[in-house]
Amino acid sequence: MDSSNRMPAVFVGHGSPMNTLEQNRWTESWADLGRALPRPRAIVAISAHWYINATAVTAMAEPSTIHDFFGFPEELFAVQYGAPGSPELAHEIAEVAKPTWVGLDRDSWGFDHGTWSVLTHMYPEADVPVVQLSVDAGKPAHYHVDLGAKLAPLRDDGVLFVASGNVLHNLAMMDPSQPDTAFAWGEAYDEAATELMTVRPGDIATLYEHEHHHLAAPTPDHLLPVFYVAGMAAEAGATAEVFTDGYLMGSLSMTSYLLR
Ligand code: ZN
Repeated sequence: MDSSNRMPAVFVGHGSPMNTLEQNRWTESWADLGRALPRPRAIVAISAHWYINATAVTAMAEPSTIHDFFGFPEELFAVQYGAPGSPELAHEIAEVAKPTWVGLDRDSWGFDHGTWSVLTHMYPEADVPVVQLSVDAGKPAHYHVDLGAKLAPLRDDGVLFVASGNVLHNLAMMDPSQPDTAFAWGEAYDEAATELMTVRPGDIATLYEHEHHHLAAPTPDHLLPVFYVAGMAAEAGATAEVFTDGYLMGSLSMTSYLLR
């Protein structure tokens, strides 16, 4: 494989599902990135919102658009992201991950809003095949870093990884009185993640020992997608850069990373 043709990998802080319909500085940064990146042959979307007790990949030719939320406007439930799936890529993932087991999902899931809230901006034409990878809730932190490293060779074969979550994500602590700042503990945690991603991504799992980990990531579903990009960076002996950032309501961050 020619590493000069290696595809980048990204982690996107996705925030509210409403970002699907809005145009703001984050969604514009996602759209800009989609235009700037080399065109992938396919995308692996690693979504915080498919947090189950297995590592699985969508393996159907025409994945459904899943509206995995409630209490949002009807307009959001009408969104369809019609990108084709790629059963071939799903099989390649299962193969390259061995001996780690990756289940082929033929009929249970599809694209959830972790994936389509971002891809509607990055690839509005929905003309690049997409498979979605789950995040296994039952595995230790390093499993996700290691699996990211195992999947990295697909980057040399035209595959773009788009991991989607939020580094700082505590919905119970959201504070409407601070719309675009974070609590000091949240900022400290988000900055620690950025320090790791930009200097020593292979150590990303040490975030679990951070003094504010349990406040910043009370459930790790939105954090763990970062670990896949960290694993890819470590595998390449590279570091990631921040391509957009910002805080929302005290306890959410929109920090996003690009691994070139
Ligand atoms: Zn989310």
